[in-house]
Amino acid sequence: MIIEFKDVTKTFQLEEKARFDVALQHVSFEIEQGEFVCIIGPSGEGKSTILKLISGLILPTEGTITKPATVSMAFQSGALFPWLSIFDNVALGLRATHTPQHIIQEESMKYIDMMRLGEFIDKRPSDLSGGQRQRVGIARALAVNPHVLLLDEPFSALDPKTTAELHDDVLKIWRDTGKTIVMVSHLIEEAVSLAQRIILIKEYTVADTFPVALPYPRREQATEFMHEVTKIRKEFFK
Ligand code: ADP
Ligand code: MG
Repeated sequence: MIIEFKDVTKTFQLEEKARFDVALQHVSFEIEQGEFVCIIGPSGEGKSTILKLISGLILPTEGTITKPATVSMAFQSGALFPWLSIFDNVALGLRATHTPQHIIQEESMKYIDMMRLGEFIDKRPSDLSGGQRQRVGIARALAVNPHVLLLDEPFSALDPKTTAELHDDVLKIWRDTGKTIVMVSHLIEEAVSLAQRIILIKEYTVADTFPVALPYPRREQATEFMHEVTKIRKEFFK
């Protein structure tokens, strides 16, 4: 077990009023080393809060969290620095760690190649498409070699074809690096394409958990795939 939430509640105190805003309540789950887990659910009901708690960006109000030693997050926007080259954007995290120059070069290039960005290393983010920029964000997150990769709706701004390509990239990374991946999505199909286990978050808590036993690569047209989607959709909209 690399991540564990035990009865975790998170509330925010709103300054202007004497009231609390609930972000998460009584959430418990475990994630195993090397697992690929998707967190799905409607907007505004706690998904991103879970990733922020895993990363240590925020602390729980109640309950306990076992966190991995290191995590890295890739965001929906890619969150790149426009004035830096693609190489420098990827190398940024490593440069902050006093890593020797030749290791920074090697490690950054490893993930740049893995994310098919070799021809863009001297370009700026504005020269790239949305899908390419998202691949830079993921390469940067991976370059520091974190125990866990967190992805917060990384493909929601992309067209379906680009999204499908990035699904293949993420599955390849998962296979090649053996990393634990926790990804937030609001799309049931996306979660069923990628995850070994899907955690459904509704109204700030765990509504259900679905193991997905289908072999990879998964085909959306397959009967078993559609069966999984239908089963989860029923709970999602209940
Ligand atoms: P999701 O990612 O599922 O869309 P979030 O986890 O971002 O949802 O947010 C869940 C709820 O927590 C939101 O509806 C909001 O009311 C509350 N929340 C999140 N962050 C804050 C914050 N910094 N201050 C106040 N309330 C917050
Ligand atoms: Mg969110």
